[in-house]
Amino acid sequence: MTDEALRDRWLDHATRTLSTSGRRAGAARTAIIEVLAREGQCLLTAQELLDRLGPRGSYSSVYRTLEELFGLGLLHRMSGRDGIARYEIADPERHHHHLIDETSGTAHPFTDDELERVIHAAAERLGVTLTGHEVVIRGRPSVQASHKRD
Ligand SMILES: [Zn+2]
Repeated sequence: MTDEALRDRWLDHATRTLSTSGRRAGAARTAIIEVLAREGQCLLTAQELLDRLGPRGSYSSVYRTLEELFGLGLLHRMSGRDGIARYEIADPERHHHHLIDETSGTAHPFTDDELERVIHAAAERLGVTLTGHEVVIRGRPSVQASHKRD
């Protein structure tokens, strides 16, 4: 599902970042950025992006643009166990983590305030200023959870 506020916030942020970096905007890149803002809010592969672009996209423009946006900090990248890189837009205001359901392989975004507190405290103990973190939880639905409704 598309979060429209996030879409607009990221589009604005991406446009400003790209123009201050002095890069020339092309039609292919503009189309890719528009699709990413809507459909790249959680993990998307280059192939899925290409499929959504249809005739407006090409392998070379997709790979070039993903690298460029990643290099500018506008995207997060995660490598799955299948070795395929997945991208999502980097929200300047918020972030989420991923729960991978190992029975289906699907990733679900989640946020957890307690987890954030623990990570910030750990960074402090390690003596670093936190600049980023990512958490992936893998699991199967627990027996208790699946019998809860019985
Ligand atoms: Zn995500």
